[in-house]
Amino acid sequence: MATFLLVHQGMTSKPIYLPTITPEIVSTLQSIVPKERIFTGSKTEKFSKDFYWYSPILKRLLEDRRAEVAIRIDTREELRDITALFFSKDVPVVIRGGGSGNYGQLIPLYGGAVLDLSGMSKIFSVDGVVRAEAGATLRAIEFEARKAGWELRCMPSTWAISSIGGFFCGGSGGIGSILHGGISSGDNVKSVTIMTMESEPKFIKFEEKDAIKALHTYGTTGIMVEVEMRLGKAFNWEQLIFVHDNWHELLDWTYSVATDDKIVKRLVTVFEAEICSYFKPLKKFLPEEKMATFLMVDEPAVEALLESAKAAGIAHVYSRPFGNPPKPPFITDYTWNHTTLWAIKADPSITYLQCGFGENFSENLDKLKNKYGDEFLLHLELTLGNAKFEAGKPGVTVGGIPLIKFTTEERLNEIIDFCKSIGVGIANPHTYKLEEGGVHPDIVEKRALKDAVDPKALLNPGKMISYHKNPFEAQPT
Ligand SMILES: Cc1cc2nc3c(=O)[nH]c(=O)nc-3n(C[C@H](O)[C@H](O)[C@H](O)COP(=O)(O)OP(=O)(O)OC[C@H]3O[C@@H](n4cnc5c(N)ncnc54)[C@H](O)[C@@H]3O)c2cc1C
Repeated sequence: MATFLLVHQGMTSKPIYLPTITPEIVSTLQSIVPKERIFTGSKTEKFSKDFYWYSPILKRLLEDRRAEVAIRIDTREELRDITALFFSKDVPVVIRGGGSGNYGQLIPLYGGAVLDLSGMSKIFSVDGVVRAEAGATLRAIEFEARKAGWELRCMPSTWAISSIGGFFCGGSGGIGSILHGGISSGDNVKSVTIMTMESEPKFIKFEEKDAIKALHTYGTTGIMVEVEMRLGKAFNWEQLIFVHDNWHELLDWTYSVATDDKIVKRLVTVFEAEICSYFKPLKKFLPEEKMATFLMVDEPAVEALLESAKAAGIAHVYSRPFGNPPKPPFITDYTWNHTTLWAIKADPSITYLQCGFGENFSENLDKLKNKYGDEFLLHLELTLGNAKFEAGKPGVTVGGIPLIKFTTEERLNEIIDFCKSIGVGIANPHTYKLEEGGVHPDIVEKRALKDAVDPKALLNPGKMISYHKNPFEAQPT
């Protein structure tokens, strides 16, 4: 195993690690992939970062971390040969898909290599199940699927840039989760094929429920090369926005829409008024001081929906078909963690939490608003179950990504503690450590998988903190 040293630069305590990538390794890499796809020095920066800067805490912890080499991989064969090389040289390896993760999931903690799989993007088939290479974007899959009368069952609001492998390894759900649940719900995942980190890497396919253990492990349990995900029947989605000036009335109406099985939906999102003011391109549709519900609803249900809104005194202000093929602008660009992006653009002091508001969500939301006022801004996402908080619970779950006006880490932790004290679940987005960021009822199985496929613990070290070994751990992270 290579040795690593921590040294200190001048008066700062920024860690600098002895390089793991030697000129000899770079020259061997050049015999595997063209040198135009190998990046060293400052060029590794953009491959080494995701949206970790949403969190002021992760920004502080991770901004100096980067890989020593980044490589764009186009084929399984290249991936296999490079992985075998890095295994033999004890180089830590992190995989990158679209780089849209939120928690520094792909930021290398100990230098080493980032392998960018965006070139492994073949879509093999879309006949009720998509079978694709891990680097295929969700956008490409959605477009291909819709041509054949299908659509993704769920996708993040970053569907334009995210890869399906990155979604499986780092994401949880999103648009479509009100209809089909999250990635790991029901039979959404048909199979995943991973490559092991060994001297002679093997390809292993896990099917149906057996595949779940390989999901959401930040690339610590093998390199995902191919996935099969079941598709949903494509609907003619209408994108709609409703506004109102009474929070409880809007929430009650929205919840009744979310739980009405006759209305087929792909998105149910609620914002309080201040958040709407951050959506500059929608300014003309969103009157000041009004809160809003954003919906994607199957076209035949729209007429009855408009009548029900009218009867509740709720104003309909925006309609636009999603399109087939989909055609922007998309309201999805304001939902899920895109909301946080608009907010940070408007006010850089803003950060966020990920919450499950529980069965008595309305009461809990009131408690939070009463205690924190405008320091805690409500952004709700309604889904069918939510593996982050209530794995296996049937029916509609009220979760969300509330915005926090950040002042100090202590204050943020105080808010988190208060949430927990009233039964509001927290999936903490201010940690890069897998187990601290959400619930993992199958962590024992995940660790066993890591044992089997990554014997030297070289895959994204430092992220699965309950794993018994980390060859780099002598270095503070
Ligand atoms: C504006 C914004 C909105 C978002 N909205 C959502 C949302 O609605 N729902 C949601 O779930 N998430 C959301 N996210 C988080 C993120 O976009 C998704 O999780 C996304 O699916 C990640 O895909 P990616 O290809 O960008 O992954 P990356 O960021 O490239 O990788 C994510 C993790 O998976 C690992 N990984 C990637 N590919 C592989 C592979 N082939 N094999 C092994 N490990 C791999 C990486 O090492 C990393 O740990 C959002 C983020 C932002 C910035």
